[in-house]
Amino acid sequence: MHIVFAASECAPFAKTGGLADVVGALPPELVKLGHEVTVYLPLYATVRQHIEGEWKYAVRSITIPFEHYNRFVGIVDGGKRNGVQYYFVDCPELFDRQGLYGTRTGDYPNNWERFGLFCRAVLEAAKLLGVPQVFHVHDWQAALIPVYLRTVYSLDPVLREAGVVLTIHNAGYQGWFPPDTTERLLFPWEIFTMDKLEQFDNFNFLKGGLVYSDMLTTVSRKYAEEIQTAEFGEKLDGVLRGRAADLRGILNGVDYAQWDPATDGNLAARYTPEDLAGKRECRADLLHAFGLEKVPESTPVIGIVSRFATQKGFDFVTEIADELAERNVALVALGTGEPIYERFFREWAFRNQANVAVQIRYDDALAHKIEAGADMFLMPSRYEPCGLNQIYSLKYGTAPVVRATGGLDDTIEEWNAELGTGTGFKFEGLKASGLLEAIDRALKAFEDKEGWKKLMRNGMALDYGWERPAKEYAEVYEEVARRRT
Ligand code: ADP
Repeated sequence: MHIVFAASECAPFAKTGGLADVVGALPPELVKLGHEVTVYLPLYATVRQHIEGEWKYAVRSITIPFEHYNRFVGIVDGGKRNGVQYYFVDCPELFDRQGLYGTRTGDYPNNWERFGLFCRAVLEAAKLLGVPQVFHVHDWQAALIPVYLRTVYSLDPVLREAGVVLTIHNAGYQGWFPPDTTERLLFPWEIFTMDKLEQFDNFNFLKGGLVYSDMLTTVSRKYAEEIQTAEFGEKLDGVLRGRAADLRGILNGVDYAQWDPATDGNLAARYTPEDLAGKRECRADLLHAFGLEKVPESTPVIGIVSRFATQKGFDFVTEIADELAERNVALVALGTGEPIYERFFREWAFRNQANVAVQIRYDDALAHKIEAGADMFLMPSRYEPCGLNQIYSLKYGTAPVVRATGGLDDTIEEWNAELGTGTGFKFEGLKASGLLEAIDRALKAFEDKEGWKKLMRNGMALDYGWERPAKEYAEVYEEVARRRT
């Protein structure tokens, strides 16, 4: 089957988060299953460095009409990598910028035009370069593809039979724009109604995708349930409940070529479930990187690697910070994000120089060192569609301490010392005391050295590679293709 991916991020070309990892890893895995996959991505400034030699245009110019003007896009042939064909949508005046979505001061005001154009360009390019059985579109930036397909393109004889699957990577980002976006993107006003794209008098990209796609997926089973509730649905829970029969939760895979302590080149030493000795060296190396060499051997180390955002539950951490720092524990944090949390971590470390340290930046190698060198990994997210770090932690024998939400709940099982089952520690509810209790359970379990080794090995034995999710996506594509013929 031929599947066209359309997304605003794809590793290694352009990345701000987990979306890029999925769009980077899933297509090669589908190729292994015998499918043909094409990926379309905007040609941002960051993509340029990945285009080798002279640019080769697959299509030199496609006209994208707007209200009183046209724009013209080229389709740059990114070639085949791991059997996947890449095409970059070139419209320099919209995409040739450093930020994918905006600058530090905010989103680009014309994101409606940038991603509206991207969606139309993918459909037009597919007509010239190959119409797939299924378009697999990701998040709000690609969500107008099904809307175009089923409205102004509905009579097109070559596109008519193509199906669409939309994946929600984070329902918190929807693409809200003023009502006149309807006209500016040349849609009929009929679609600006409550049961279609309109939401609280806004034009909502993601809502359009939810209404017009054949099937919907999101990145864990639990999150698929949660987004149908008012608490997590970000005001789209009604639409999502209406489409419950077509919604699947497929847990993301992770890339063990990058994240496996047996082969990880970023570490001071490598280790396996059979021979855990290297993890001690990784711990010493990590404490050195954070200037905490004086922390005693017996003290457990808790790691954090994250965007510093309210989504990630750092308000819980601020509430228990002082009490936690008094425990026999060392804390190392790596992250960037909202100034309020950057300041909190700096001050927390300043007040507790003996056992709390933070580095405010993005550093992939250090993220690997934390996964390996810590004993526990903290992820108390308020919501977490899937989450990758806790899955890495499992492989590195680092016990996740998480809030029981979304992918965190699906991937982590509470440790049971009597039975020797489980992989980490979870708390429910929205009280910081719940987090502290979960950490205390972890610290207590850590005292039993043999039990702790069992817990580590339970996690390290699990396989969250891409093979299984790729098969589940292929089943969804087949169901969509069946429905459309
Ligand atoms: P989200 O996509 O919501 O940010 P995920 O857990 O799904 O959360 O993915 C986060 C990814 O970004 C992980 O691979 C994590 O290691 C990485 N990451 C986040 N912040 C940093 C940082 N400051 N330095 C290095 N890697 C980071």
